[in-house]
Amino acid sequence: MSKQGNIGVTSENIFPIIKKFLYSDHEIFLRELVSNAVDATQKLKTLSSVGEFKGDLGDLTVHVKYDDNTITISDRGIGMTAEEIDKYINQIAFSGAEEFVEKYKNDAASIIGHFGLGFYSSFMVSKKVEIVTKSYKEGAVAMKWSCDGTPEYTMEETEKADRGTDIILYIDDDNKDFLNKDKINGLLTKYCRFLPVPIAFGKKQEWKDGKYVDTDEDNIVNDTKPAWVRKPADMTDEDYKKFYRDLYPMSEEPLFWIHLNVDYPFNLTGILYFPRIKSNIDLHRNKIQLYCNQVFVTDSVEGIVPEFLTLLHGVLDSPDIPLNVSRSYLQSDQNVKKISNHITKKVADRLEEIFKSERPQFEEKWDSLKLFIQYGMLTDEKFYDRAAKFALLKDVDDVYYTFEEYKALVKDSQTDKDGNLIYLYTTKKDEQYSYIQAAKDKGYSVLLMDGQLDVHVIGQLEQKFEKTRFVRVDSDTIDNLIRKEDSGKVTLDEDQKNALQEVFKSQMPKIEKTEFYVTFEALGENANPVMLTQGEYMRRMREMSSMQ
Ligand code: ADP
Ligand code: MG
Repeated sequence: MSKQGNIGVTSENIFPIIKKFLYSDHEIFLRELVSNAVDATQKLKTLSSVGEFKGDLGDLTVHVKYDDNTITISDRGIGMTAEEIDKYINQIAFSGAEEFVEKYKNDAASIIGHFGLGFYSSFMVSKKVEIVTKSYKEGAVAMKWSCDGTPEYTMEETEKADRGTDIILYIDDDNKDFLNKDKINGLLTKYCRFLPVPIAFGKKQEWKDGKYVDTDEDNIVNDTKPAWVRKPADMTDEDYKKFYRDLYPMSEEPLFWIHLNVDYPFNLTGILYFPRIKSNIDLHRNKIQLYCNQVFVTDSVEGIVPEFLTLLHGVLDSPDIPLNVSRSYLQSDQNVKKISNHITKKVADRLEEIFKSERPQFEEKWDSLKLFIQYGMLTDEKFYDRAAKFALLKDVDDVYYTFEEYKALVKDSQTDKDGNLIYLYTTKKDEQYSYIQAAKDKGYSVLLMDGQLDVHVIGQLEQKFEKTRFVRVDSDTIDNLIRKEDSGKVTLDEDQKNALQEVFKSQMPKIEKTEFYVTFEALGENANPVMLTQGEYMRRMREMSSMQ
């Protein structure tokens, strides 16, 4: 049987469109073809396990080879009959591609992973593509399909010893750089590193007589059972750490991890790691890799997980995240919303669990965790509600308190005349030392709020906590606190105070809109008898605007 035909399209030649609009992502052709080979192999395994296929599965390794003009991807999967080529290649796949390109030709750059183009992405780099395939079905005839990038194709019977499919790409002149060992290796490592069927490319090498030489053994480029698809119960801490090292070779050890494993109402697996974050410099977004059934899709998960979670590292794998759509569409997708909420909840649950069962370790890691947790609380209401249970406040003596604990601590001793709770804090322990000392002498507690996000955290907590104000230790309002006993030792009359005010004020630095106040009191044994204070509100506004 031999056949010529016109690929099931109504419009004119679509290949130039494919080439043009998806230019930047030419390389995904290899991912698409290798994952098709893997799919075909998995299908055969399934047929075998249900008794539909009774033959010998044999070696199921997928092979990728290249020479001066071609790249070939071979599998020993289910193969295709002539009818199946007609149905899956000539009609369905192509109409899918056309629809895809039509829909997104203005938005191609933002489409995640460009899934959906499938088999036809091979034409992004090829002037001609051949399929040589033989179905697993008994008595199947091998077929050869060939298409040179126009909507016409040929199909004829051919000889093929083994079941399965070879896809042969005749690489076009513009894309010859793909005919290179390192290039192909790089692409396989990027996209196929964790595929569930062994992928062979070239031979393993060994060091012999002063150089590397090929051995007889296939070089398998992938790990078919990566950590996230294994059962959490089978994983040791060392397994998790090793996987982290595999993903991010030069990184410090992670703080904690979460193994995600959901199959209802959506499918999601993955491992998320809390990296050690000490400062802004350590903030690396886009360290999470997104997979779809172990096929790498993208390492930018914005729009899929809440923004603060993009600071985590690790792997997410879900076939329920639509991948052939734009980011803006993704954010409104119901499944994606559910997945995102689930991840947020799991992250909070895990932190709470660690907080409850290993509080000392949690406190020890707080400085590394805090930026992440605070960022989450500031940007995600739901996360705030959950994290309010384990978020910590630290005082100047490095004692940690939960929000509840701290409230209980200061509730009787630190109120102003309006009945507001006053949380005293310092932003610079050294510079504000004498103020801290003075406050402590009076029996007040002082929080250390010197983190990058603390100005914003203070603003948020003032909103969330009832009748609570944060007041920096050098602020004017400290003296409005109701004191148990007043130990003023120096008494100046009003005239003396006013005269001294002028002297001090004339020496003040000129900072716009800042009013300094001078307090004359012996505030305690070790404190200074004269203190300069400034309004809390104006100072904080200034700090906030300088941060923006
Ligand atoms: P998708 O993989 O999303 O179905 P593709 O365009 O990649 O879309 O492939 C279209 C169809 O062609 C597949 O669903 C499958 O039926 C068939 N096909 C492609 N590659 C192979 C292969 N290596 N072996 C068997 N069938 C294949
Ligand atoms: Mg496919």
